[in-house]
Amino acid sequence: MKVTIYGVGYVGLVQGAVLAEVGHDVLCVDIDESKVSDLKEGHIPIYEPGLECLVKNNFQKGNLKFTANQQEGVDHGGIQFIAVGTPPDEDGSADLKYVLAVAKNIASHMSTSKIIVNKSTVPVGTADKVRQVVQAELNRREKHNLDFDVISNPEFLKEGSAVTDCMRPDRIVIGTSCSASESIMRELYAPFNRNHEKIVAMDVRSAELTKYAANCLLATKISFMNEIAGLSELLGADIEMVRHGIGSDPRIGYQFIYPGAGYGGSCFPKDVQALIRTAESLDFDAGILKSVEKRNKEQKKVVFRKIHEFFNGQISGRTFALWGLSFKPNTDDMREAPSRILIEALWAAGASVRAYDPEAMNEARRIYRDDKNLVLCEDKYATLKGADALIVITEWPEFKAPDFEKITSKLSTPAIFDGRNIYCKTELEKLGISYVSIGRK
Ligand code: NAD
Repeated sequence: MKVTIYGVGYVGLVQGAVLAEVGHDVLCVDIDESKVSDLKEGHIPIYEPGLECLVKNNFQKGNLKFTANQQEGVDHGGIQFIAVGTPPDEDGSADLKYVLAVAKNIASHMSTSKIIVNKSTVPVGTADKVRQVVQAELNRREKHNLDFDVISNPEFLKEGSAVTDCMRPDRIVIGTSCSASESIMRELYAPFNRNHEKIVAMDVRSAELTKYAANCLLATKISFMNEIAGLSELLGADIEMVRHGIGSDPRIGYQFIYPGAGYGGSCFPKDVQALIRTAESLDFDAGILKSVEKRNKEQKKVVFRKIHEFFNGQISGRTFALWGLSFKPNTDDMREAPSRILIEALWAAGASVRAYDPEAMNEARRIYRDDKNLVLCEDKYATLKGADALIVITEWPEFKAPDFEKITSKLSTPAIFDGRNIYCKTELEKLGISYVSIGRK
């Protein structure tokens, strides 16, 4: 099937590559011409495990093409996916300017019928807005007879495992009340629906809300656990014991109950905020969501607070080794990453930082330019040179079993601040390391 995807970010590029891999004819359109020319030359603008190979193979086969030409994009696909960003507006609600710009663009170039699919995470009612924008532009062009449908197909991939998530989705939500559009979408996704029925068909508004509900529930689990971790410290309990104790209950489960330095990324923070704003616009008190957001903002400051306490407020002039910059492992994405809050707090207190991340170094360079208080090191042990203590903020696999003797020999204070609870407290204490973690006294 011929598919056009607008946006070659984490969602559009991965979805495009995966649809091409199963044989669809995919054209990806982006307004960022440098990204498009990089992709045509085989340079992948983001890091996602398995993505580079998938993009290159399908580009060579001719199943996956890239363009910045809007007319080409509209002409190509009977199915037109909108996968552009929906960043927070000034008040935290989702900014739809990119989504609506794509909608208008489709309408101003289309000459045959189209199914327009909202893949971006958008507030309930956005499909109606897209429909209005498209209809208004068609009316202006006096093309009233051109047929189109707008449907919702939210994306549930996780950065860091996006390719696998799209190849083997656990559900495919299709929001439409038009049976013809539903069957076209079923045909498109048939290669991903062989093992068992994964398509959950529903009305558009329910589909739009499903995406927010999913992200907000996951964020709630994390903030809840961070709240219990705070209590755990005050009560002399060990949050890791508590985590095992509750996770073993199948009604609770082990996933998303890790205490830590707070959630980040391009989705949870903005989606929680956007749903709060939606609720406010309806005079509905979303008390749970507001608490989830508040707890997370506090949690991102916890590691700094612990460092401050440990050094009795004497932070100025110190150097800290930092392991991890991305908001979670297996991605280069630093949007809303806890590392950024921490780095900036350390700088504000007069400290400097020597950091390493397996994939996010270029992103850190882009964000912080050549700030002299941030030295980006070639490997994890190089960060320790002249450092007072080590901080772990992202749980990359390569940080999980380091050479602790090497660490202590290089640090001026044998102290580790673990924002993800990846080390064994007793083992580190045996080695004479002062170990400060989350939710453990
Ligand atoms: P992103 O910022 O990585 O990429 C968005 C891309 O859209 C950019 O390359 C930008 O240049 C392009 N773009 C903007 N306007 C355009 C236009 N008019 N025409 C063509 N391209 C245009 O965004 P992302 O992380 O891929 O997220 C996209 C959407 O998917 C968001 O709504 C997000 O909430 C949602 N989502 C993201 C994830 C995730 O993990 N990143 C997961 C599920 C859903």
